[in-house]
Amino acid sequence: MTVPAEKQSCDRCGSCCKQGGPALHRPDFSLIQEGRLDRYHLVTIRKGEPAFLPFADQPAPVPSEFLKLQGRQGSWCCLFYDEQARACSIYENRPMACGLFDCTAPEPILVITGKDLLTRFDCIDPDDPLLPLVRRHDREFPCPDMEMVTAGLNSPADRLSLLADLTPLVNGDLAFRRQLTAQGTLSVAAEMFYFGRPLFQLLLPLGVGIRETPSGVQLL
Ligand code: SF4
Repeated sequence: MTVPAEKQSCDRCGSCCKQGGPALHRPDFSLIQEGRLDRYHLVTIRKGEPAFLPFADQPAPVPSEFLKLQGRQGSWCCLFYDEQARACSIYENRPMACGLFDCTAPEPILVITGKDLLTRFDCIDPDDPLLPLVRRHDREFPCPDMEMVTAGLNSPADRLSLLADLTPLVNGDLAFRRQLTAQGTLSVAAEMFYFGRPLFQLLLPLGVGIRETPSGVQLL
């Protein structure tokens, strides 16, 4: 979303809400503490994952992790955006970045972009049994270098070997999550908060296909 030069004021087009719910910042922690936002509303964007920054036309790898509001039905559109009313359904409790976003005046949101971000580690209780598992998952199944992945997928000479290299990482990530949900250690609703998006989801927009097989997913 580039800054639209022709706009003089907000006309409630909804572009800001449709192109990605906001990142949460430390002042938003009170929304979680007071129960106005719950974990199942949130997704962790892990270091290196592609995400939209304000006024960017394309998602780009992020330099450090943060929490944001989840999208709706696999899209970037904020789950609280009411398409019919063209309005925010949690207006009084919207995160700080939403109040600062104005596509006719980009300075305020750009000043805070990437700064003082809230992460899952700010919100997870030190006694939470999932905390060591979150750290282990991050070590064993980090987000790959998405710029290298994109370049490799676009190279006919490298594509197949790259997919072969990524397959164990993608399957390991899925198996880790499935084991925790099967054990009842992790609720599906909180999965995105604790572990972020499954790695295979990051590959779909890059044109990678997925096929389920008895031994795991196959990347195409
Ligand atoms: S919380 Fe409300 S204002 Fe913020 S992106 Fe979502 S719908 Fe838009």
